[in-house]
Amino acid sequence: MPTTVDAYAAPSATEPLVKTTIERRDVGPKDVLIEIKYAGICHSDIHTARGEWGEISYPQVVGHEIAGIVTEVGSEVTKHAVGDRVGVGCMVNSCRECENCLAGEEQYCLKGNTGTYASVDRDGTVTQGGYSTHVVVDEDFVLRIPDALDLATVAPLLCAGITTYSPLRHWNAGPGVRVAVVGLGGLGHMAVKFAHAFGATVTVLSQTLSKKDDGLAMGADDYRATSDDATFRELRNSFDLIINTVSAPLPMRKYLGLLALNGTFVSVGAPPEPMEVPVFALFNQRRSFAGSSIGGIRETQEMLDFSAEHGIAPETELIRAEDVNEAWERVLRSDVRYRFVIDIATL
Ligand code: NAP
Ligand code: ZN
Ligand code: ZN
Repeated sequence: MPTTVDAYAAPSATEPLVKTTIERRDVGPKDVLIEIKYAGICHSDIHTARGEWGEISYPQVVGHEIAGIVTEVGSEVTKHAVGDRVGVGCMVNSCRECENCLAGEEQYCLKGNTGTYASVDRDGTVTQGGYSTHVVVDEDFVLRIPDALDLATVAPLLCAGITTYSPLRHWNAGPGVRVAVVGLGGLGHMAVKFAHAFGATVTVLSQTLSKKDDGLAMGADDYRATSDDATFRELRNSFDLIINTVSAPLPMRKYLGLLALNGTFVSVGAPPEPMEVPVFALFNQRRSFAGSSIGGIRETQEMLDFSAEHGIAPETELIRAEDVNEAWERVLRSDVRYRFVIDIATL
C-alpha cells in the first residue's frame, strides 16, 4: 500500500511551488525508506520544473540532493540499516546491464538512467524528488554519509559535489594543472573546493568581484571578473581545464581563447539554449570542448568519502520549506551563497 507524504510541488511550468501530498510506493524487497531531513536546491530543479529542458508532467516534485535517515528496509536489503545516515542524488535506478552500467557509469546508462524526479520509474509512475518528507529508493542507489559530514550541509554534495568532482577527476586536475571555474554558485563553489583539494591551481571567473573574498577562502588562487574584458586578454592561453557551471549560454569564442595547448573546456552548466562553438577557436591550441553529467554511484561514494577525509563541505543557507519560491528567485538572480538547503522538518 503506497504511503501519502507531504511535499512541495510545481503545479505547472509557470506557477510557484505549492504544498501538497504525493504517494510513495510500498517498500519492496530491495528498497530503503528514507525520512528526508534536508534537500538542496539545484538550478536543475528550476530548469526542469519550468519546462526549460522539455515538457514534463505536473504536479512535479523536484529535488535531487537528498540527505536523511533510513527508517525501513526491505527483506533483501544488505547495504543499509534502519538508523543509517544516507543520501540520494540525481539517479534512482538504471538498467544495470549495459556496458556503461557495468563500468559504474550509470549516469550514462545506454537505456537511460531513472532520474530522481521527472523520470518514468520501473512501475510506470513518474518519479518525484526530494522536496518531500520521505522517499523510497532501491538500495543500490542510496549513498552512505560518512560520520565526519554534517547531515545539515551534506546534501549538495549529492549533485553539485559529484557533478564537479567527476570531470575534475576525469580530466586529471592535480598539481601543475591550471583550472578555471566559471560561475561561483552551487556547482562552482564545490568545483573550487575539489580542484584546490586535488592540488590544482584554481582561478574563479565570476561575473563580478563581489564574491572574491569567499572564492579565495574556498581555495582559489586567483579571482577575475568576466565583465572586465581585460580578464580575457590577460588570461589568454592560460588554462589546462575550464569547468563551466553557468546556467546560461556563454560567448564561447572568448572562453575558448582562455585555453592553453591541449586545454579542455568542460560544460556542466546546462543552459536550455544551444551554445555556438566557433571551430577555429578549437583549432588554435588543439583545444577541446566537452560536457559531463553528474557521476556514477561508485564515484559518488568515493566523493563523499574524500570530502569526509579532507574536511570538504558545501557552504549552505538553511531555509524553511515555505521560503522555497523566494530561494528559487534568488538562485535566478545569482544571489546564492552558495547553496540553499531546505530544512524538511519545516515542511
Ligand atoms: P547556480 O547556483 O545558479 O550557479 C550558476 C552561477 O553561474 C551563478 O551563481 C553565477 O555565478 C553564474 N551565472 C548565472 N547566470 C549567468 C549569466 N547569465 N552569465 C554568466 N554567468 C552567470 O546554479 P547551479 O545549481 O550551480 O547549476 C549550474 C548549472 O549546472 C545549471 O544549468 C544546472 O542545471 C547545471 N547542472 C548540470 C549538471 C550536470 O550533470 N551536468 C548537474 C547539476 C547542475 P557568478 O555570480 O559567480 O557569475
Ligand atoms: Zn542538480
Ligand atoms: Zn545501463
